[in-house]
Amino acid sequence: MKAYGLYIDGQWVPSASGRTFETKSPTTGEVLATFAEGDRTDVQKAVEAAYKARLKWRAFPAPKRAEILLSAASIMSRRKQELGRLVTREMGKVISEGKGDVQEAIDFLQYIAGEGRRLFGETTPSELPRKFCMTVRQPIGIVGLITPWNFPFAVPCWKLGPALVSGNTIVYKPASLTPLCAVTLVEILAEAGLPPGVLNMVTGPSARVGTSIVEHPHIKAVSFTGSVASGRDVYTRASALLKRVGLEMGGKNPQIVLDDADLSLAVEGVLFGAFGTAGQRCTATSRLILHEKIYDDMLQGLISRTRSLKIGDPLDPLTDVGPVCGRDQEEKILRYLSIGKEEGANLVTGGSKLTGDPYDKGFFVEPTIFEACHGMRITKEEIFGPVLSVIKVRDYEEAVRVANDVEYGLSSSIYTRNIELAFRAIDELEAGITYINAPTIGAEVHLPFGGVKNTGNGTREAGSTAIDEFTEIKTVFIDYSGTLQKAQIDE
Ligand code: NAD
Repeated sequence: MKAYGLYIDGQWVPSASGRTFETKSPTTGEVLATFAEGDRTDVQKAVEAAYKARLKWRAFPAPKRAEILLSAASIMSRRKQELGRLVTREMGKVISEGKGDVQEAIDFLQYIAGEGRRLFGETTPSELPRKFCMTVRQPIGIVGLITPWNFPFAVPCWKLGPALVSGNTIVYKPASLTPLCAVTLVEILAEAGLPPGVLNMVTGPSARVGTSIVEHPHIKAVSFTGSVASGRDVYTRASALLKRVGLEMGGKNPQIVLDDADLSLAVEGVLFGAFGTAGQRCTATSRLILHEKIYDDMLQGLISRTRSLKIGDPLDPLTDVGPVCGRDQEEKILRYLSIGKEEGANLVTGGSKLTGDPYDKGFFVEPTIFEACHGMRITKEEIFGPVLSVIKVRDYEEAVRVANDVEYGLSSSIYTRNIELAFRAIDELEAGITYINAPTIGAEVHLPFGGVKNTGNGTREAGSTAIDEFTEIKTVFIDYSGTLQKAQIDE
């Protein structure tokens, strides 16, 4: 079996402690590879390498930095089938989604490489004669990147791409459930031409690796994607050190369906939104808010479509829903299924772990639908699995009130043909993303992505805003008058 080290200063090296860990397929239990388990000492070495590389990388022209990203995107395109299978084997999403994860990473690297020839600042007139004013973007320095397991290619590229093109050097910590995807991505970036020390990766547990990255004094900014609980810890530690922090966290995303909606479109939308990636997307639909007039029809249609989903081997192209990603994930989801039953929600389909061949070696949970009352824990807390709560409402106003009454605010969706209510929903839904007549999932890389309330702290990944998280703005004044001109003086 293959053993992988940490990537520090352009070399694959063992961890200082010599400890290792392994990852297993969530479908078959097969051990896929072993990885070095880093700790504070390894993070220190990674930071030293990033520190040493930082001035040269910063001085390397941005269009040349971008060429490396384009070259990584080409390697990934060439290897897309194999990389898609790798995502599916390690993370468990079905193969079309595994390839989709890789394609999103490719699309984004191609998009963000364009910043190599932009990284725009501003020019503006001065209030004084013969004086020129402008802003320029500069790298922050060394940045720490911490990522989850559910999009093991796309999410890291959403951070690596803008951090690199902006001229930062990096210490990167991937999730411990998907390190094989992470080492493969780093190998690709190295093959594409990244100089040693620019990107350093330390695999290992959050308590030792993640926290050491967040607290290291040379790391000036931290970009984190994961759960609210972990993000709060990252934010608390990093803000005490006055670091810049970007947080992308969980969701409890609603799909509202009003009484004038195209119901078959709405059923297909929620099926994809709730059960795609076995519900393990930050943008997954976890609440279906139905107008009382179409409640019964929509629910019946949805139950019958849900029961027809094929659950099984995610490498089989005919499979709709694969396993969830590991034992902890499965236990958490099953715990919420019990909570839903104890709270008195009406279980209408699913509700159990799947057993027997071919499910016994993996972690398979049935796509589950509860009829629930708003306020139950299953309607308010992120489950991150194939579990949907359906809530009945009287009208548009109640739908929006229920949709907004959670701590999260990532994605949202409304199905209606009423243009006025569609536009009001854009105004009134408390979320970073609103879809009209489309499910809550489906980001496009050239648009900003992020959430409000406890989902984030105001940063946006992807799109034209992606580089804001990774650049400092310097304001420049050039006085060519040859005299002392005094600004801010009122004479
Ligand atoms: P997680 O919070 O358990 O871990 C995310 C990453 O942070 C991992 O690498 C982990 O090792 C590290 N980590 C955990 N605690 C840490 C700490 N205290 N200090 C430093 N690092 C720490 O999340 P997960 O289970 O990997 O991912 C699922 C979560 O991610 C869900 O809540 C999902 O909604 C969220 N997510 C959000 C987005 C988004 O863009 N908003 C995208 C994908 C996933």
